[in-house]
Amino acid sequence: MKKHNFYAGPSILSEYTIKNTADAILNFADTGLSILEVSHRSKEFQAVIDEAAALVKELLNVPQGYSVLFLGGGASMQFCMIPYNFLQNKAAYLDTGTWASNAIKEAKLFGEVDVVASSKDANYTYIPKDFTVPADVDYFHFTTNNTIYGTEIRHDPDLGVRLIADMSSDIFSRPIDVAKYDAIYAGAQKNLAPAGVTIVIVKDEALGHVERAIPTMLNYKTHIAKGSMFNTPPVLPIYSALQTLRWYRDMGGIEALEKRDMEKAALLYEAIDSSRMFQGTVTDPADRSIMNVCFVMTPEYKDLEKDFIDFAGGRGIVGIKGHRSVGGFRASLYNAMPIDSVRVLVEAMKDFEATR
Ligand SMILES: *Cc1c(COP(=O)(O)O)cnc(C)c1O
Repeated sequence: MKKHNFYAGPSILSEYTIKNTADAILNFADTGLSILEVSHRSKEFQAVIDEAAALVKELLNVPQGYSVLFLGGGASMQFCMIPYNFLQNKAAYLDTGTWASNAIKEAKLFGEVDVVASSKDANYTYIPKDFTVPADVDYFHFTTNNTIYGTEIRHDPDLGVRLIADMSSDIFSRPIDVAKYDAIYAGAQKNLAPAGVTIVIVKDEALGHVERAIPTMLNYKTHIAKGSMFNTPPVLPIYSALQTLRWYRDMGGIEALEKRDMEKAALLYEAIDSSRMFQGTVTDPADRSIMNVCFVMTPEYKDLEKDFIDFAGGRGIVGIKGHRSVGGFRASLYNAMPIDSVRVLVEAMKDFEATR
């Protein structure tokens, strides 16, 4: 049976990505060797990482003066690398979920952290709007898409200070005004590649302004100087990332992807809002994520949640169980998710509802 993969991460990848990765595991770039066994210093792999960096720049319209890095350690490593490299006196952070608060925890090890607003009081079901950011902060850090709670900030805020963002779960789903940012980072396993690589887009000139000594591997300058090859980079995830980036380009680029993502999300939210059995956990439509759609059963039907997961599973739908801190369901609609799979889910919701 065809599977419809709604997992939140690691998550669905395009067939193009998976097929080309499988081919390269058998024979990489006609070398007669597997991508798993070639030197990262080979000219064939150098071509891969160069093209991947160039495509990130092209797709996201990255201006001059920024470097694109492919690092290990996941997005969680960036929670520490960001303040290590950018926090001299004080930074502002927006607390919109588990990942945001993990980033805050790390930043506090390095200097003063002003948590300008938090939606923790309502289990992170909304994006705080009424807050001000002190003008003297080194940067404002936020999480553009809250993977666990299904909220999203789909714009690049004007706050009068430099921005830094964790875009792990919605990068490549909208155009970004990169010039407003000193750094953008994204773990690959939500919208790009298998786990193991993190993309970092960093403004070169913004580095070098902290007084502390920075360990070699945690210093962005190390990786910029060596083109992400200071040590062995995650070769296979980078190869897969390149395939996805090519697929993104061939799909028509970011605007086309965004349009498609909006259609998918609208279809599912419509089904949730028009149902008597399901309800969204994020009520303000402006705050709703188009990547991770979180919903539950209304109190009357609450005890049927497990049954629906089984029912949907019978139709090949996998990965819709909500995160334990939200419960219910979460359908992740990353770029690689075809609209037909969303239709299958919507159909399953309607059919299940009709049985009660
Ligand atoms: C998944 C996720 C992370 C954690 O990523 P790791 O690569 O596992 O460290 C951080 N931020 C966001 C927004 C995420 O979705």
